[in-house]
Amino acid sequence: MSAKSLLQVKELRKQFGKQEVLKGITTDIKAGEVVCVIGPSGSGKSTFLRCLNRLEEASSGQILFEGVDLCDKKTDIDSVRQRMGMVFQQFNLFPHMNILKNLTLGPMELQKRSREEAEAYAMELLHKVGLAERANAYPQQLSGGQQQRIAIVRALCMKPDVMLFDEPTSALDPEMVGEVLNVMKDLAAQKMTMVVVTHEMGFAREVASRVMFLADGYFLEEGSPAELFGNPKNERLQSFLSKVL
Ligand code: ADP
Ligand code: MG
Repeated sequence: MSAKSLLQVKELRKQFGKQEVLKGITTDIKAGEVVCVIGPSGSGKSTFLRCLNRLEEASSGQILFEGVDLCDKKTDIDSVRQRMGMVFQQFNLFPHMNILKNLTLGPMELQKRSREEAEAYAMELLHKVGLAERANAYPQQLSGGQQQRIAIVRALCMKPDVMLFDEPTSALDPEMVGEVLNVMKDLAAQKMTMVVVTHEMGFAREVASRVMFLADGYFLEEGSPAELFGNPKNERLQSFLSKVL
């Protein structure tokens, strides 16, 4: 039995000028998988993630999301992006809007859902992350960890089919990392498909269904957390792990 492919990446290449960052990456992400991408700084992890929702244009290759070719110029990328939630290192909440407004803007404006429905769903998700009582607060009144939990909720309010995370805890004070990782763990337990670029090896070990090591333009090694962390085969991976574990 094999789960349905949600994202199929074929021979993805990306260069910036003469620098080739991704040199022909092929991978297949199934519904319900939690894929953690690890690798050295500058290896192209963010570029890979940004290509997946076309924040970066691939130089060549194919990316199929739910069977639709994202690289095809005819594809309506805006409607595709609504089904792909993205959470960045910086939370990027709208500072002049309260939390509830931040959460309901996309569903109401882009998805034409009613205010009642959008607010009810936002409140339901806020309850789940323990921030319902902050619905009327403004972003700057919240801690970094709270803002990042809100940023995750904001993405979820669009009811995406996949969530992309780019080092969501890297900008946080250490004591706030856990609360954000816990929200992500809950999501994984609910079988949300997730692609997570992270330096949190503990999270990857505990939550990932698959870990992929990106370096030198390729996924040099991939496997279960037990395989990858317990018995790394690639020399670059061994040396990377010796520095981060
Ligand atoms: P990582 O997320 O693994 O740290 P990035 O994907 O951010 O790596 O960057 C990979 C390489 O691509 C780096 O050398 C970076 O300088 C380069 N790069 C990333 N984005 C751009 C851009 N928009 N223009 C030029 N070079 C870029
Ligand atoms: Mg990055």
